Amino acid sequence: MTEGRLWLLRDARTAHKQGTEAIARRQRDRLADMVAFARTHSPYYRKLYRTLPERVADPTLLPVTSKAELMPQFDDWVTDPAVTLARAQAFADDPQRIGQPFAGRYTLSTTSGTTGTPGIFLQDARASAVTGAMMMRALATWLSAREVARIARGGARIALLTPVGGHFATTVAAARLAGRRRIKAFSVHQPLPELVDQLNAFSPAVLAPYASIGALLAGEAEAGRLRIDPVLVVLSAEGLPIPEYARIASALHANVRTSYAANECPFLSQSCADGWLHLNADWAILEPVDADHQPVPPGQRSHTVLLTNLANRTQPILRYNLGDAVLVRPNPCPCGDPLPAIRVQGRTADLLTFPARGGEPVTIAPLAISLALERIPGVELFQIVHTAPTDLAIRLQPAPGADPHRVWQTVHAEITRLLTDHKLDHITVTRTAEPPQQTSGGKFRTVIPLT
Ligand SMILES: [Zn+2]
Repeated sequence: MTEGRLWLLRDARTAHKQGTEAIARRQRDRLADMVAFARTHSPYYRKLYRTLPERVADPTLLPVTSKAELMPQFDDWVTDPAVTLARAQAFADDPQRIGQPFAGRYTLSTTSGTTGTPGIFLQDARASAVTGAMMMRALATWLSAREVARIARGGARIALLTPVGGHFATTVAAARLAGRRRIKAFSVHQPLPELVDQLNAFSPAVLAPYASIGALLAGEAEAGRLRIDPVLVVLSAEGLPIPEYARIASALHANVRTSYAANECPFLSQSCADGWLHLNADWAILEPVDADHQPVPPGQRSHTVLLTNLANRTQPILRYNLGDAVLVRPNPCPCGDPLPAIRVQGRTADLLTFPARGGEPVTIAPLAISLALERIPGVELFQIVHTAPTDLAIRLQPAPGADPHRVWQTVHAEITRLLTDHKLDHITVTRTAEPPQQTSGGKFRTVIPLT
């Protein structure tokens, strides 16, 4: 079997049409292939799996892995001996190389991570092709023929709202698409009025912002300042309170869809018209488990989830603790999609709202602040706590070997600049003595809003 792009597209469509059993069969076969590949080509997995049976088609037989455990053993984890952490890190530290192929053939993205360990992730050509096939399958369920025609008539312009200056997954994707006339990337770091002006001028048919930025733009549309007519809004990265999706849809008169994904598996899921996320279970496995990694039945909120990526052979993600709490729908989704339906909890984006010096309160997507901080060298982990209406407290953990005083000076200057850009120079920013605090699920929320 040859897994070219066309084959993958056709197979994705066939599996979807045939339903649950066809999807489960692909999942089992691909898991067995991936485990066999990993234990042959990755020294880390060869050792970890040495006592397992020869063929493994049941994920629960596999030991649990995590970013904290895998990243320090990066060179043994990856299956391409030409790839080392030193080379990948040097590439990741160079902003000039955002969107370029790493080692001539991989898509590289980084995350400072909400679990406290910075990560570097490589996607190979096969995983990129599967990502493309899953995106096409999602679009086929998201859009009617009439909407596709409307997008084409409107010039098919696509606006990607991305952070700048780092190897963030969305920034890397935008950089790879740059130069195509109909696709334009807009920085999420700029003040909202400037972003609104640029979007009004571009008039996109498809808008792809982070969820919290989407919520801010809905407010701008309601106020009559944002005057665009997109057919589709695809929200990424964060979850929002459920009523927010309907508000964004009605403010922008558009279909609003989301994807729940991770650097470890960019093609994980997409939402349906009934507000559930459908897992691409033919290419990924997501097991909801309790704190002891025992299965949690459908209908109950899990403690965490274990992710297996069945497409990416370069850096195998097998039963990897992702840290999110999910709930699996216990019965078929009314939308008719045979893919398993889930809701994700604990990824909710909270907006930061500050009193203005005069006039209306100013709201900032926390993402704009956290992405600005992630770009600063020497920042290992941070947490922004909105302690009082005009006070922000920063919990900071500098990287080992970094000068804590200099790191803090840079962090302070960066947040102050961002606040000043939003005419919020009356907000005070102080550093707290305590380090960032974990949630009970082991995650670090980057922003804790005022309660
Ligand atoms: Zn559904």
